[in-house]
Amino acid sequence: MNYTPEQKAKWERVIALIQENLDGPSFNAWFRPLQLYAISGDKIYIVSNNSFTLRHMQERYGSMLISTMDMVFDRKYNPEFHTVEEIAAIDEKLSASTLNANYTFDNFVVGDSNSFAYAAAVAVAESPSESYNPLFIYGGVGLGKTHLMNAVGNFVMKRDPSKNVLLMTSETIANQLIEGIARKNTSELRARLRGVDYLMVDDIQFLAKTKATQEEFFNTFNDLRENHKQIIISSDRPPKEIPEIEERLRSRFEWGLIVDIQKPDFETRVAILKQKALEDSIDVPYEVLEYIARNVNTNIRALEGSLTSLHARSRLMGTPITMDLAAAALSGLVKERQERRVTCELIIDIVAQRYGMQSADLTGKRRSQDIALARQVAMYICRELTELSTTAIGKAFGRDHTTVLHGCEKIEDGMDADYALRKKVEELMRAVKED
Ligand code: ADP
Ligand code: MG
Repeated sequence: MNYTPEQKAKWERVIALIQENLDGPSFNAWFRPLQLYAISGDKIYIVSNNSFTLRHMQERYGSMLISTMDMVFDRKYNPEFHTVEEIAAIDEKLSASTLNANYTFDNFVVGDSNSFAYAAAVAVAESPSESYNPLFIYGGVGLGKTHLMNAVGNFVMKRDPSKNVLLMTSETIANQLIEGIARKNTSELRARLRGVDYLMVDDIQFLAKTKATQEEFFNTFNDLRENHKQIIISSDRPPKEIPEIEERLRSRFEWGLIVDIQKPDFETRVAILKQKALEDSIDVPYEVLEYIARNVNTNIRALEGSLTSLHARSRLMGTPITMDLAAAALSGLVKERQERRVTCELIIDIVAQRYGMQSADLTGKRRSQDIALARQVAMYICRELTELSTTAIGKAFGRDHTTVLHGCEKIEDGMDADYALRKKVEELMRAVKED
């Protein structure tokens, strides 16, 4: 949807007011064919399936429509009229630079996995800040990066509609630049990028197309930052790990604040599902929400997808959503999960990765302090999460069972004394279980 329910209601109010003030035949001829298609920035896109009456309506009643809109809406909108045949063109225009009105701070569920990113986004939405510029948000697919950026944009626009907010994927920017270069006209895009108060570039990892796009973006970045305009960037990984990006650009990404979004924990997943069910008026028992949350833990898009397909199934079959229905609908997912066994190898891989080491470091001979700690953590987790004997665990690490026992004891003691270590181990165990 390209407008909010409130905007839609206001548009209907506009049309109702016009109907009150026109005779029936005129209203039917000129206004009945009109439909609200989208609202974006200060533009309201109206489509009609009758190009002839559309033209005449504009000439005769355009100013009446505008003045009625001014009365009803709490901000100034400029109408743009199109025939239904032109919808593709509108979509293109919209997708190049629009905010999704459905993604707001209000409907962003905050949990441990995203609270830092959320707080940072709210901070820059409230006031652009030197120290958070750029704000760099990274995290896996479907974890809420695009949602947060839209939320910033919607917040800013709502508070001050005169603000200029641009949200684009880096791919769109790169493509438009390449197009501009081919037509020997990059000034239009340049002016557009530099004329903003907030520039939000989604999925920056796709910027890298050509040297020219990086160069252009580099200059835009500097220009905006010098002029105290806020820049927000999202990526599926931290700046360091985007190989195709030039060093000078990468280092600029690190000037501001870098925040990450992790996979949501169980409670957050339940909360997200609960909200989604509420938003879409889906009637779901709480135990079903928990069931989905327990079984779908890859990302939030998948979580929402499961609820949506469950809802579709219940409507098709004309039955309410129950545990049985959920179990049937999600059986594929659940089976896959049960078949995946937790092994020492898996644990070693995950622990090594989280400590920024190679798996071979944990099974090898080296005894440096950080490697020894990671190794002991991995041993401890093996004992907690597998049914294996300490001898079998030892084997996976190329060590005997006394080393495993000793390692597990060290971690148990360590966790009692050191809260950070406890958190770390708990987080790792969660990662192992959920991977
Ligand atoms: P990303 O850009 O990181 O791939 P999106 O922002 O597109 O992910 O999020 C995927 C879906 O999950 C969207 O429908 C979004 O609204 C929803 N979502 C993500 N995080 C949250 C959250 N914390 N609360 C509510 N919905 C969320
Ligand atoms: Mg995204």
